[in-house]
Amino acid sequence: LFITFEGPDGSGKTTQIHQLAEELERCGRSFILTREPGGTTIGDAIRSIILNPEHTELADHTEILLYAASRSQHVSEKILPALKAGKIVLCDRFVDASIAYQGYGLDESVATVKQINDFATGGLTPDRTYMIDIEPEIGRQRMKRRSGAAELGAMKDAADLDRIEMRALAYHQRVREGFHAIYEENKQRIRLIDGAQDQKHVHQMICDDFFQFIRR
Ligand code: C5P
Ligand code: MG
Repeated sequence: LFITFEGPDGSGKTTQIHQLAEELERCGRSFILTREPGGTTIGDAIRSIILNPEHTELADHTEILLYAASRSQHVSEKILPALKAGKIVLCDRFVDASIAYQGYGLDESVATVKQINDFATGGLTPDRTYMIDIEPEIGRQRMKRRSGAAELGAMKDAADLDRIEMRALAYHQRVREGFHAIYEENKQRIRLIDGAQDQKHVHQMICDDFFQFIRR
């Protein structure tokens, strides 16, 4: 069973995936929790190239290929072996993120991004995807507050954002519209959840759907 979490930056998907993992732990299910870009040694090396804000020269097509390369390694080294061993795989971002961020966000051909990713993953598709939706403005506010900034009583400044997060609000608006378009085309697989709701409520909605889904 392959489960992915998607959504704009600051949507709360990482918090939610960890909370679902805790539920699985509690009921003794065998699972792995992993993320993209990264998830493997090679993938993490690629992640650091892609996300480094100093890499302003990184070309759009290179970005597309690097995400796909990281994903390919992730699928062959980690995801497929876990699925073959009968484990549930919880993955923070997958191909939908590339369609939204590199296809829609960068105004590149969505068909090409799909084709490249099809090659990278061997056509592996999630069984269920939780797409957590948030307005980019709200997502950005949340990002500025995350990782310890509360204790410091200070907002994170722009210098703490990664190369993608730093992009203009208009970019992130296209990404969000991209996620919506992907949802419209995959309503069977994707559950679209309003990330502006209370965190516990979002968790409850995901749990209800998930446990119903695995019982089918
Ligand atoms: O999921 P997380 O926010 O940790 O992702 C790290 C960064 O990679 C984010 O800034 C995200 O927007 C970006 N990303 C991307 N394209 C993808 C996957 C992630 O631009 N396909
Ligand atoms: Mg992020």
